[in-house]
Amino acid sequence: MDIFKNADIVGMDILTQAPPKEKRLKPILVDVSNLKGVDRVVAEIGNEIVEFGYKNGLEKCYFIDTNGRKVGYVVSDENLECNITNLLKRLDKNKKYIQIHNHFDDVTISLNDVYTFVKHKNIEKMIVVSEKFIYEIKKTNKTKKIKYNRDVFVRVTKKFIKIFAKKYGIILSRKNLKKVYIVANYILSKRLGYEFNITRKNNNR
Ligand SMILES: [Zn+2]
Repeated sequence: MDIFKNADIVGMDILTQAPPKEKRLKPILVDVSNLKGVDRVVAEIGNEIVEFGYKNGLEKCYFIDTNGRKVGYVVSDENLECNITNLLKRLDKNKKYIQIHNHFDDVTISLNDVYTFVKHKNIEKMIVVSEKFIYEIKKTNKTKKIKYNRDVFVRVTKKFIKIFAKKYGIILSRKNLKKVYIVANYILSKRLGYEFNITRKNNNR
């Protein structure tokens, strides 16, 4: 019996849509006063984009280099797709970069995000900032390359999540999807050889 036959895996994409204005969570801002260098730039951008998201219901995606110098940003369309094609063209192939963008409703890094991160060698780190959390993936010297294109990668990964959920008796309801997604990120990070960290923001102001 396949208990996941009717599970709405596609619902994972729905999870990344911005909630209506009256349902948007007010983001916690990080205290940047004791931070220096690239950490400070990252925290400042994180604060800026979650406030931007709260006001406008859109995502904003920044690229900075590993010294904290800003390359530029793009704002998403209504479907929360950030077209980073032009930004990618501006990156120096021999340098490393950090990509930072916001998510709504404390949704972690998406499969599409993981794909972008793994596919582009010079994206050293990807940081997703939500209302209460900071999710970070970081390459190591063990990070594998992927041969798939985006569609195949997402399809294969969703199938894999289904198998995983079944094995551990997790029902893929909308209520559980966020948790399943986090576990999927952990497993992907082990399989593809990168680090995955979650930080809860301090409400210290
Ligand atoms: Zn994303």
